[in-house]
Amino acid sequence: MNELQKKILALKKERDCLILAHYYQPLEIQDVADAVGDSFALAKRAQSASQRGIIMCGVRFMAESAKILNPGKTVWLPAEDAGCPMADTIVPADVLALKKQYPEAAVVCYVNSTAAVKAVSDVCCTSSSAETVVRSLPNRQILFVPDKNLGAYIAKQLPDKEVILYDGCCPIHDGVSLQQAEAAKRAHPEAKLLVHPECRKEVVALADYVGSTAGILETARKDPAGSFIIGTENGVTDILARELPLSHIYALKPDFICPDMKKTTLEDVLACFEGRRTPIELPQAELDGARKSLERMIAVQ
Ligand code: SF4
Repeated sequence: MNELQKKILALKKERDCLILAHYYQPLEIQDVADAVGDSFALAKRAQSASQRGIIMCGVRFMAESAKILNPGKTVWLPAEDAGCPMADTIVPADVLALKKQYPEAAVVCYVNSTAAVKAVSDVCCTSSSAETVVRSLPNRQILFVPDKNLGAYIAKQLPDKEVILYDGCCPIHDGVSLQQAEAAKRAHPEAKLLVHPECRKEVVALADYVGSTAGILETARKDPAGSFIIGTENGVTDILARELPLSHIYALKPDFICPDMKKTTLEDVLACFEGRRTPIELPQAELDGARKSLERMIAVQ
């Protein structure tokens, strides 16, 4: 642990703050966090936080979710310009127009979206909860926003539902081509391919396992001497390579990296304690609407 990390750990205690980090964050950030997880685990952890402040090491929608679920806390996003290109593909007006077009449909909104979009949706989901959430709804017709790849994967699992897809995606996961996945399999024929459902359907079709980042980690951890190609952001590959020295862990491709997730530095985390970051604030209507959608998701888990 370096001096800056030690300083952050001391400040965290002194100022009564909880530090949360997504699996895609740099390892040096994960090392100062109280909890590391995927979007769903972090949202739940933020909801139950007893500390006065929450520092969310991730991208903006994650810090917004922490604020929505625990509005009495001060929530900081250390890298204030860390956004999510997928979240930016949709605005509330798009959802409202679709609702008009499909009045019978329930709007299921992937958590990788802005608070404003969550506020006009019926329920949120994460990649680990999407299937359970969609299954739990009485509506046959589902408007799934914004990730068309996750939506298509869920539609395949639940043929009784009519899933209408929005044309958004994660450019990082959607950027993996079939050829790249096939090349990784050819290079490591003994390895199992573990893939995130934000990838394209032709990549998902090649996988031995499809699931959230938490699910991918759990699958590899169950077989600590196994061989795995990791079909999600390389933060997960780094965690497994460090944690399972007897296993063979391969990145699907070397540049499987989300630049926004990698923006957080230790200096940014320190800045939250030193008053150099602005706490997350949201309009009351967004807080109230988005909280309903997030709480419905948590309730069906
Ligand atoms: S990996 Fe994709 S979905 Fe996740 S923050 Fe980056 S761009 Fe958004």
